[in-house]
Amino acid sequence: MQRVEGERLYSATDLVAFLECEHLSALDLRALDDEALRAERSQADESQQLIADKGDAHEKRHLADQHTQGRQVVDIAAGGGSISDRVQATLAAMRAGVEVIYQATLRDGCWVGHADFLRRVDGVASSLGAWSYEVADTKLARSPKAKFLLQLAFYSDLVAKAQGVAPRQMHVVLGDGTERNFRVADYAHYLESLRTRFLAAIEGLLGATRQAPYPVPCEHCDLCHWSKRCERRRLADDHLSQVAGITRIQTSRLQEAGVSTMAALAALPADARVARIQPETLVSHLASTHHESVRSFLNALIGKRAALDLAEAPEDDAKAPDLGMGDETSDGAAAVEAGDVQASSTSASKADATDESKRLLQQRQRYVQDTQRSIVDGVEAFLKTLRERAQTQPLGVVDLLRLRALLVVVLGAGSKKADLRPKDLNAEVRRRQVLPSRGDASWRGRIGRLLFEFFRDHAAARPPLIKSLHLEADDNQGLPEDVLECWATCFWAMCAMRVATDDAGAAFEVTSREAMLADDLYRFSRLLPQQSLGAVVQDVFAGMKRRYAERLGVSAERLELEHRALVDIAFVRSGVKQA
Ligand code: SF4
Repeated sequence: MQRVEGERLYSATDLVAFLECEHLSALDLRALDDEALRAERSQADESQQLIADKGDAHEKRHLADQHTQGRQVVDIAAGGGSISDRVQATLAAMRAGVEVIYQATLRDGCWVGHADFLRRVDGVASSLGAWSYEVADTKLARSPKAKFLLQLAFYSDLVAKAQGVAPRQMHVVLGDGTERNFRVADYAHYLESLRTRFLAAIEGLLGATRQAPYPVPCEHCDLCHWSKRCERRRLADDHLSQVAGITRIQTSRLQEAGVSTMAALAALPADARVARIQPETLVSHLASTHHESVRSFLNALIGKRAALDLAEAPEDDAKAPDLGMGDETSDGAAAVEAGDVQASSTSASKADATDESKRLLQQRQRYVQDTQRSIVDGVEAFLKTLRERAQTQPLGVVDLLRLRALLVVVLGAGSKKADLRPKDLNAEVRRRQVLPSRGDASWRGRIGRLLFEFFRDHAAARPPLIKSLHLEADDNQGLPEDVLECWATCFWAMCAMRVATDDAGAAFEVTSREAMLADDLYRFSRLLPQQSLGAVVQDVFAGMKRRYAERLGVSAERLELEHRALVDIAFVRSGVKQA
């Protein structure tokens, strides 16, 4: 958006921006007449600049190709000058029938466009003569995107105005050097309706008959020059969009229910209900701000507390419960859900399976693989985030809860037969095991990785994360119950790793590394045997046993014995005399 000699001019970029975020268009519009606001625009950061530089290099390569192929090329931008000068230079080149016009500038009323290349098409007559032009743009991407086509359609329309006839085709030269061609007529109608909507919005904003929408985060924010300003505003407003994983519809439903800020959301009781939001979805969002709710949810998940009301809420847009406890664990929900592959896969793999069932099977397999990757990456991202944070501030109970959540997600994904939310507890629900028992992506490996980073006291240069944990005293009442539950989950997961058997029923070898890790875990918990074997831990163990033991190939009895043995060893090593 720019003002040239008193006139507002709009480009293809402005149309694309309007599609991405109307708040962006509103800010750009205001900034035309507001110098202070203009100063708030951020410059491209290093990565954006790198992408822009690569885009320029790709464009220059295509330009060089034109020269190499002996084509006559005119570079409009090289001549400099104002927009009008460039438009005149472009029109002159078109009239002269130059083969390739580079950086062509065209204008039609308030619309101005800068196309990478105009290519002469011989044999298709126009007001210019026995030739006409078509637009070609270079894009770094390897596949065409809708916004590219919108830009091409926009430039093609300007070319149509300049030559009196619409180009038949438009072309995009992709980052891998391939060229894709599209029919201009297929996009003309959409372009027209978008321009009408855009102008109506601009008029509404200028005439104060329309309000700029709230800067709700969208995919474009990372690239947007207003991102810092919008972030500040959301922070100042304590806006709900900052809740991990929340959708726009859920935000507006909460607002309709009078819950407009993160603080208001955090103040909701764990059993709160909001119209048209599934209870577990709401609990998940509460979890982002309220660690007590995370705890309740996890306990409900393993059956330690009353199960949540899982009644269908068909109007809610979120089909799957979001277990996101922050970005690091949000893929866990997908992991749990990804296990939901019906037994039809067996029949689908038979020789007489139809093409459709084969396709579905492949789709499901891909989904399971993608989910597996998401969990493996999620574990690493979670640990990286905590490592970085631990360098500047202590970790808190909520981080232990996140660890617990991730352990539960990994165990769920390692289950061979699991439905974490069965309506009928006796139901046999076959699910695909997302994390196998052996190999690089095994559930045992992920559990070991999480516990290792948290508890293994292996090198002074890289202390375990647990050393950065700061727990609030609980009025001299001992460890809070939520912390005890976290330890219990860690104990259960550690013991499950040690006593699990593979699909053939063979025990895994407990390595010396795993043995030392177990020692450190039990040592760092600093629990007395009466706590490690007490009611809170037993409650969690009972829930974990019910939900996961058999499904992971873990003997609950052996696990219990293993736990007792590790408690005894830790107690003896601590040198503390039992009261
Ligand atoms: S930062 Fe995001 S919300 Fe703000 S204007 Fe840009 S795209 Fe819109």
